[in-house]
Amino acid sequence: SPNFFAFFAGNTSGPSILGDLVASGLGTQGMLWATSPAATELETLMLDWLAEMLGLPAAFLSSAAGGGVIQDTASSSTLCAVLAGRERAMAYRGNEQGVSDRLTAYTSAHAHSSIEKAVRIAGIGSERLRLVDVDDGYAMVPEALVAAIRADLDAGLVPAFVNATVGTTSSLAMDPVRPIGEICRQHGIWYHVDAAWAGSAAICPEFRHLQDGLELADSYVVNPHKWLLVGLHCSAFYVADRAGYLRTLSLLPEYLRNEASASGAVIDYRDWHVALGRRFRALKMWFVFRHYGAEGLRAMIRDHVRLGQLFASWVEEHPELELAAPVPLNLVCFRHRDGDDATEAILERVNSTGRAYLTHTRLDGRYVIRVNVGQADTEERHVRALWELVTSST
Ligand code: PLP
Repeated sequence: SPNFFAFFAGNTSGPSILGDLVASGLGTQGMLWATSPAATELETLMLDWLAEMLGLPAAFLSSAAGGGVIQDTASSSTLCAVLAGRERAMAYRGNEQGVSDRLTAYTSAHAHSSIEKAVRIAGIGSERLRLVDVDDGYAMVPEALVAAIRADLDAGLVPAFVNATVGTTSSLAMDPVRPIGEICRQHGIWYHVDAAWAGSAAICPEFRHLQDGLELADSYVVNPHKWLLVGLHCSAFYVADRAGYLRTLSLLPEYLRNEASASGAVIDYRDWHVALGRRFRALKMWFVFRHYGAEGLRAMIRDHVRLGQLFASWVEEHPELELAAPVPLNLVCFRHRDGDDATEAILERVNSTGRAYLTHTRLDGRYVIRVNVGQADTEERHVRALWELVTSST
């Protein structure tokens, strides 16, 4: 629905649906290059195209030392990043000997819950995940990260993983990618950047500055299934050093041995994530990219950002409402000046009409309404109608 302003949209499109249909019809099993050279080669190409469209660092290209893979979700991608960081910090002994209880991980207090979930599954544990302080705009404070790492090193612990978020779920805060990356480099810590929603904006050159410093990252995730019109599941996960990454996840049982894999000249994507079997997901990316072109996708994202900024400007002018966070792109967080009850009442009244869908978060403990202009069919008239619903509910 174009009146869906809740959470982050999980978009799809006609070309993506057709791509999925063809993939289902072909019934391709893409676990190894040998089981489907086409699925493998097209995936490599699509991930390279996407990296180029987003202006990602050259290291993430398959022609360099890294490369990308399609995972089901950002949560799975981040789990793989945490596992890789864990293994590197343990000199690749964790998989054999079990996880050291001295490892630590770091992210901001505003990171997505998938970071903590991954840290739990990887055996590091929530207690060793440091939630680093944020600034007034809810972005991680690099000095606070340094302090947390130093304190852990002094205590004999082993920092293994840092996550920075480009576009936090609550307020679209942008952690400073470069300063955090420099800290990670200095300490040899695996650096992951979670750009699940906002990373797609980098398809427009004018928004790339929001993730400046990505060449310092070991891994990066962006979800075309959110904001690039490719339907679920399609999470693009990149690593800068595929050899190091594959050391963590690769296992070779006899029944998977084959000539192509043994040649070392092909990619077997089964080694790049938890799952073995895999669909031909690159097909829907290809259909979407060929149908809309980079320009078509840019036009949608620019329009969403324009509409988000327009909505934010109306909030700023309204006597009873106020912005609750900076608006770098298309997510507007706002509240009623009279406090939580008044804000919550707006959300309930808007949602009870059934004509738009909004969700909330809490920033500094205060109830905040989130308006994410990110559904593929949303036009200015829908945003204006939402504003009328909001103001008639204040
Ligand atoms: N990271 C961020 C910043 C998100 O906003 C979200 C979901 O909205 C996720 C990760 C999780 O995405 P997925 O549903 O692909 O696991």
